[in-house]
Amino acid sequence: MSEVALNEQSGLRPRGAPEVSIVIPVFNEQGTLHHLVGEIQRVLAHERYELVLVNDGSKDRSSDILHELAAEHPEIVVVELSRNFGQHPAIIAGFSIVRGRWIVTLDADLQNPPEEIPRIIDQLRAGHDVVGSIRENRQDPWLRKQVSSLVNTVTTASIGVGMRDYGCMLRGYSHHVVEEIVELAEQAAFIPALAMMLAANPIEIEVRHYEREEGSSKYSPLRLMRLGFDLITGFSLLPIQMVSVAGLVIAILGGALSMLLFARRIILGPESEGIFTLFAILFAFMGVLLLAVGLVGEYVGRIYAEVRRRPIYRIREVISQSGSPDPSDELR
Ligand code: UDP
Ligand code: MG
Repeated sequence: MSEVALNEQSGLRPRGAPEVSIVIPVFNEQGTLHHLVGEIQRVLAHERYELVLVNDGSKDRSSDILHELAAEHPEIVVVELSRNFGQHPAIIAGFSIVRGRWIVTLDADLQNPPEEIPRIIDQLRAGHDVVGSIRENRQDPWLRKQVSSLVNTVTTASIGVGMRDYGCMLRGYSHHVVEEIVELAEQAAFIPALAMMLAANPIEIEVRHYEREEGSSKYSPLRLMRLGFDLITGFSLLPIQMVSVAGLVIAILGGALSMLLFARRIILGPESEGIFTLFAILFAFMGVLLLAVGLVGEYVGRIYAEVRRRPIYRIREVISQSGSPDPSDELR
């Protein structure tokens, strides 16, 4: 594998650029960083690579630890964001400075074992431009898994390209896919789905998955719901169309019911009971209405965010031994 790694045939990339870039978002992960970096150095010993660690506004000692690591190891590049932007914007910030021909992302918490990185790189070398991963017996709480499975189904239905597991962030991309993702830099960026849209030759492989050892998950149920909404409204008009169809069906049923009640009134005379049936029907209508209004709100909100074009991340500083590869005041 190392002879391929040393083969310099990059057309446009700068001389001496690494073959592989590893991108890891870091948010309050002080407990795992040393272990994580050690593992990556071990499994990638035969590669020419850079390790891009994006500090997403951590409040613990992560930043200090990252700076120490960057001072010790020439392959480490630390990207400091100005505050907490979220996992996906943090990864895109990393993408904006990567130099490798192949890019691999993973989580900092060692839930994705670094031993699997070479298998991802092998698939990229074999010509796949997007490599997804399926978590073999995933080690997460039950509810989390149910939410994920719903997200997978909806994403597959709305973008029309199937992947079994959109949630696992141990993934690989070729440089051109990453460049396009940075250019798109959508407000509601969900990287695996964006990449799937851009992919010409994707593949999914099975990887191992472990329980979180240190710290806790950064995703509260509310945050997960927002990610789900991003995903659904970001990729299709399907939900809003489904609500319209539901509205139409309910309107027709409502019409039929009124006619039935009218006929009954003429034949049997006015009804005095049935008040609660009326309530039930009203509540059902109201539910659908609220849902529809909420959904419209989601779309409008997203259009608003897109129109404002606020940066989805802001890089404060890029730290590496070879100096700053990019202007540090870059704003996207
Ligand atoms: N993360 C981040 N910014 C955030 C939340 C999370 O950079 O606002 C990072 C976090 O440090 C980790 C990865 O994203 O490397 C996945 O986060 P977490 O393990 O909390 O998610 P889960 O495994 O529960 O999906
Ligand atoms: Mg995790």
